[in-house]
Amino acid sequence: MIKYAVIIIGGGPAGAMCGIGLQRAGISTCIFDKAAFPRDKLCGGLLTKKTVDMIQHHCPEIKPEEYVVEETNSVAFYYQNEPIIHFSTRIPLYLTERTLLDDSLIKLYRNLGGTVFENETIRAHQIDPGSRTIHLDTGTYHYEVLIGAYGCRSLLARLHSIDPDHSFCVEGTADKVSAEKTVTIYFGHVRSGYGWDFPKKDHSTVGTLEETKGDRISGSFFRDIIKKDMHSIRGALIPSGRKVALKKLRQNVLLVGDAAGFTDPVTGEGIYYALLSGKIAAESVQEAIRNGNEKYLDDYLQKVRTIRKNIRDANFLKKILYHPLVLKHFMHFIRRHRSFALFYVEEMVSQYKYGYKDFLFRYLRRRFIKGERWG
Ligand SMILES: Cc1cc2nc3c(=O)[nH]c(=O)nc-3n(C[C@H](O)[C@H](O)[C@H](O)COP(=O)(O)OP(=O)(O)OC[C@H]3O[C@@H](n4cnc5c(N)ncnc54)[C@H](O)[C@@H]3O)c2cc1C
Repeated sequence: MIKYAVIIIGGGPAGAMCGIGLQRAGISTCIFDKAAFPRDKLCGGLLTKKTVDMIQHHCPEIKPEEYVVEETNSVAFYYQNEPIIHFSTRIPLYLTERTLLDDSLIKLYRNLGGTVFENETIRAHQIDPGSRTIHLDTGTYHYEVLIGAYGCRSLLARLHSIDPDHSFCVEGTADKVSAEKTVTIYFGHVRSGYGWDFPKKDHSTVGTLEETKGDRISGSFFRDIIKKDMHSIRGALIPSGRKVALKKLRQNVLLVGDAAGFTDPVTGEGIYYALLSGKIAAESVQEAIRNGNEKYLDDYLQKVRTIRKNIRDANFLKKILYHPLVLKHFMHFIRRHRSFALFYVEEMVSQYKYGYKDFLFRYLRRRFIKGERWG
């Protein structure tokens, strides 16, 4: 029997960050991943300042130059092909290629003594939660704590009768036709979501995020709106924002990142939450070990309460905001209130200074009582 204190399934940002935190604390871990690194992951690769800051703070060994391929301050919103607003943010938005970002994190994990078992797909029937073991052809692996960091799949969720809910993304790459470096968001084309065009060095990443129900109209979005030659169009799931019943899990089983449903349902941003929840899971494991109890899950749920609450509030807002009538009026409002758009991008999306619930109140207070301006 091969023993690890913690076994992590999935070596994306959530799993790698969790492993990094645990290795630094001297806790033995391994990561199983179905892929071999560097591996690709379908993703727009937009990173916010809070994400880059978190990596810098918790993984100072990784320099931004290793994974940031582009940086821009230029943002444009369109509504049904009509330009709404084009503005410049004081805080840059960063763009990455996931092959680079995820590989940097995995390399650091390895440098800290972590073991990665690549090309190893873990299946539900191989996990025995009672004896805390995973049975593979290569041997039997024993864990005290199991971390599910396997993205939008239902591996451990199925084992515990949890049913995660997903939205759908379609993404492809387009050749760069100009030196334009604008992050462009297209509203009003897909159901409860948006289309995007993110500039990278020699190409752009174009895609849509939409609810899975009904016909998908991503095809017409690429053809009629983007009008660029698209390559390698593929689809992938993303958490919808609906709560995952994490409480149903055993005390020694924690889900992190997409597996836990931790993606902002309004923006689709998930890398930040993946890193954050991975870091928190590592802290919860350390705390339980230090206290000599096995209340891993209780501690973790307590620590991710703010994340879950913010995602719940965002999900509520998404339902209102993406209603076709509301969206139309909201777009006209944004056109007239540039300051609001900038406040949202700079203070909320880039820095996460406020949660969705008190965002509007904070804006009104700072704009009209304190007289601050954005843009
Ligand atoms: C099209 C698209 C665009 C996106 N754009 C952005 C964006 O611009 N910015 C942003 O912040 N977020 C974006 N997201 C969301 C972001 O990609 C995810 O939130 C993030 O990758 C979650 O990280 P994770 O570590 O939880 O999971 P993942 O990154 O999915 O990593 C999971 C890992 O688990 C492995 N794995 C899966 N199943 C098994 C198994 N059974 N056994 C072993 N290993 C397994 C996989 O190989 C993978 O390495 C986008 C998502 C999509 C689909």
